Amino acid sequence: MTTAPADFAIVPSSRPRTTAERTAVLDRLSFGVDFTDHMARATWTADGGWQGHRVEGFAPLELSPAAAVLHYAQEIFEGLKAYRHADGSVWAFRPEANARRFQASARRLAMPELPEEDFLGSIRALVETDLEWVPSTEGASLYLRPFMIATEPFLGVRPSRRFEYLVIASPVGPYFVKGFEPVSIWVAEDYHRAGPGGTGAAKFGGNYAASLLPQQTAQREGFDQVCFLDAATRTNLEELGGMNVFVVGADGVVRTPALTGTILEGVTRSSILALLGEQGTRVEECDIPVKGLLAGIRDGSVREVFACGTAAVITPIGRLAGESFDVTVADGGAGPITTQLFGQLTDIQFGRADDPHGWMHRLA
Ligand SMILES: *Cc1c(COP(=O)(O)O)cnc(C)c1O
Repeated sequence: MTTAPADFAIVPSSRPRTTAERTAVLDRLSFGVDFTDHMARATWTADGGWQGHRVEGFAPLELSPAAAVLHYAQEIFEGLKAYRHADGSVWAFRPEANARRFQASARRLAMPELPEEDFLGSIRALVETDLEWVPSTEGASLYLRPFMIATEPFLGVRPSRRFEYLVIASPVGPYFVKGFEPVSIWVAEDYHRAGPGGTGAAKFGGNYAASLLPQQTAQREGFDQVCFLDAATRTNLEELGGMNVFVVGADGVVRTPALTGTILEGVTRSSILALLGEQGTRVEECDIPVKGLLAGIRDGSVREVFACGTAAVITPIGRLAGESFDVTVADGGAGPITTQLFGQLTDIQFGRADDPHGWMHRLA
């Protein structure tokens, strides 16, 4: 099918917000509540492949009530950010990794792969069009949400023959309301977000739907987030609903659960592994049994536990609780490795540090 990167035609919004309206939004940033004036999109049909690449006004979609996505949840998404640097330029962090993961998710959900060039072209076209929506305040960025839905009006169960790819953008402040402060985690023993052979390694909306009930229960009990265990043995740590986890040992080794097919391969996770590895820190991708983790936290052989993902970058975990345990991580959680990695990553992302890996990709 198409190999050359398609041009995204710009069809300006007929109702862009005024400067005053935009400033009001940028002055009180939250997460994922406000959206920019435009969205990027393209359509895929079984007969014509990818077509209709364009940027147009952000507006409700017209969708048949029979659209397959509304019934069988054939949907995938991505999440990445555009960062404004001090000189005004705007950059994305490893967007080609998101493009490739979007293709991997598409394969798992029997959806068409979007060419990497189209993925990158769509975010560049949208950011160029809505450049004034990229915040310049400390720690703030423009969150980009590419996604694809099955739009064929058909109730039979088979892959849709029509899909819509869209990118919307939301100016965001720090993800967790409390900022860079330790969060409390409920370890779910009775619910799983993914199982062997399932969709856990894909960025698929249904994985999130499965995590909502345990998340709601945990929040009612006063916890910030849920950590899931492997469905097969219910003994090993996997990840949070939308973040990977790391454990820092007093022996200096940093461990994270291995990618076994049920865990989402985070771009933040792989960047942390790269940074630690080249600093000479021993990193291990392995099983992390909850039992051993709890014992380690209690006897001090585990010094830090943290979660990571694009939205929050890095979040220290201060407390882990489940049906039969409740432990507090050393020093309440925000340890030196956690703090250092947060600084290193955000310095690269915001252009305050060198980028020896070529991770930053200029958008505008
Ligand atoms: C998106 C996501 C992550 C984090 O991935 P990043 O690429 O670092 O943002 C982790 N776990 C799940 C389940 C996710 O959906």
